[in-house]
Amino acid sequence: MTKGSSSMGKKSGKDVHIRCRRCGRASYHKIDGICSSCGYGKTAKLRKYTWQKFEKRPNNRGGK
Ligand SMILES: [Zn+2]
Repeated sequence: MTKGSSSMGKKSGKDVHIRCRRCGRASYHKIDGICSSCGYGKTAKLRKYTWQKFEKRPNNRGGK
């Protein structure tokens, strides 16, 4: 893929991704049936990677 608007022509207003019932994000691909965010429809486990910062605990405050 090139930079710019070369592939933007396919954006015809159709919403390809709908809300995922597992992660709640609009990343569930209608046609493929796979959530690009959590992998719903593809894997039973949550799609996550080690380099991905997953919200483990929100209390990051306090001290160094
Ligand atoms: Zn999902």
